[in-house]
Amino acid sequence: MASFRLDGRTALVTGSSRGIGLAIAEALGAAGARIILNGRSTAALDRAAASLSDKDIAVSTSMFDVTDAAAARDAIDAIEREQGAIDILVNNAGIQRRAPLDQFDDADWRDLMATNLDSVYFVSKAVAPHMIGRKRGKIINIGSVQCELARPGIAPYTASKGAVKNLTKGMCADWARHGIQINAIGPGYFDTPLNKALVEDAVFDEWLRKRTPAGRWGKLEELHGVAVFLASPASDFVNGQTIYVDGGILSVL
Ligand code: NDP
Repeated sequence: MASFRLDGRTALVTGSSRGIGLAIAEALGAAGARIILNGRSTAALDRAAASLSDKDIAVSTSMFDVTDAAAARDAIDAIEREQGAIDILVNNAGIQRRAPLDQFDDADWRDLMATNLDSVYFVSKAVAPHMIGRKRGKIINIGSVQCELARPGIAPYTASKGAVKNLTKGMCADWARHGIQINAIGPGYFDTPLNKALVEDAVFDEWLRKRTPAGRWGKLEELHGVAVFLASPASDFVNGQTIYVDGGILSVL
């Protein structure tokens, strides 16, 4: 049986000061990895790091904006130089903006694409030469059920996440031969700050509970298993896939 342990591995998780990124960081840390948290706020990162330290997880922070290619490259080169290899990269940072497409703000479109899509390209491209040199690495991109499903008011988000799914396949096409596995996780609906408006919307809440076969929102700990699987040797021949963790929402009309 292949190992699900991550002892001796280092994982960089982007956008991990809260929400899904922090939950995935906690899971990888509990499986034995050393964690590097990322975000844009020192205070939020320090709080998140303290929460992992309290659970005996080895953790450090690297503050950079994932939409800034040069900043990402500098930060990753510095980590590799000063702290050692990044074995696992989780491209998690993401934002949401809601408005009908005809009323969508052009600057919001740019922010969404920069944060949700460009970042996956920038950060992966910065890590890839190091992983290629070692002929080993795991990259996990965070997609969404919106890789497959549209809903009113979030067309640009849907476009960005659909592109993340296909970029995952393209990264696999280019890098699998170098010993790197690139897969994506597609979460359903989870109660995080990104979804604050939906969590507080009783109409949406009722729709979601009816629409989801499991009949409820996801719990953050329900992302732990798939994250550890994709980061671990247990998934070494899984490549280019998007695995949905959605209570079955994509399986029914
Ligand atoms: P949150 O808003 O709770 O957290 C987002 C994280 O990303 C924060 O740590 C934030 O920190 C960081 N971040 C945002 N922009 C940047 C940036 N430019 N550079 C670095 N860090 C950044 O969101 P979620 O945890 O809900 O979402 C995480 C990922 O999961 C996203 O990609 C989202 O699309 C995806 N997802 C979420 C779902 C859900 O139900 N919640 C469902 C499906 C997918 P800071 O702002 O301090 O920099």
